[in-house]
Amino acid sequence: TALVELDDVSKYYGNIRALEGVSLEVHAGEISCVLGDNGAGKSTLIKIIAGLHQHDAGAFSIEGEEVRLASPREALDRGIATVYQDLAVVPLMPVWRNFFLGSEPTRGSGPSKRLDVRLMRETTRRELLRMGIDLRDVDQPIGTLSGGERQCVAIARAVYFGAKVLVLDEPTAALGVKQSGVVLKYVAAARDAGLGVVLITHNPHHAYLVGDRFVLLKRGGMVGSHSKQEITLDE
Ligand code: ADP
Ligand code: ADP
Repeated sequence: TALVELDDVSKYYGNIRALEGVSLEVHAGEISCVLGDNGAGKSTLIKIIAGLHQHDAGAFSIEGEEVRLASPREALDRGIATVYQDLAVVPLMPVWRNFFLGSEPTRGSGPSKRLDVRLMRETTRRELLRMGIDLRDVDQPIGTLSGGERQCVAIARAVYFGAKVLVLDEPTAALGVKQSGVVLKYVAAARDAGLGVVLITHNPHHAYLVGDRFVLLKRGGMVGSHSKQEITLDE
């Protein structure tokens, strides 16, 4: 079964059609890309999956169970972590404190979060390194990291705290070519760690570099849905 499945989901803001008849599957160890220009409904789709909005029609299921998430907390408790474009970091806080920020114990599994400072520093360094980022000084304010590095810290954090599904809101939107490459490599590392990833982007090139499934939205409607095999040229 899919980790997350949207089946024919619609969402209206009053008379405005934000999403209509959109379907999406997210599987463990795969990256599902959602493509579309401004106004396509990408943010609305994220908000439904992240527990900020509820859909008006269709079905939203997590691991086969139909759900309506009442809050972001509920999404997180069910293993869905969302990394927003404007990362909710505290710029002057050390990297390690941001890594553990808001990490009070949640229901369910995951490593014990009651750790001492020394251990939190070490854990942050180790977890970043495990994903391929060698940050020597985890005491530096997170505001001194590049946008790409901050995305990577946020992704490493979600992986460490046991997320099953990682929703990424335009993680490369503000980045140059090099930084984008680093972040995409990192997204692939999360996939290789077994997470199901939802990659929201308006950049088809980035989607095709790492994606396994593709959904194309236009003005709230789904104008395309493809698997990797369907869009690759070789047989
Ligand atoms: P995207 O993230 O792809 O730019 P959105 O999901 O933000 O698209 O928006 C989809 C449509 O819904 C747009 O027409 C947008 O103007 C509209 N919309 C989004 N949020 C609201 C809201 N809170 N109230 C009314 N209309 C909204
Ligand atoms: P939910 O999925 O939580 O029920 P709502 O449908 O209540 O979400 O709307 C989500 C947000 O969009 C709210 O902040 C609401 O005020 C706003 N909103 C809904 N419809 C409109 C609209 N037609 N124009 C502007 N904002 C709207």
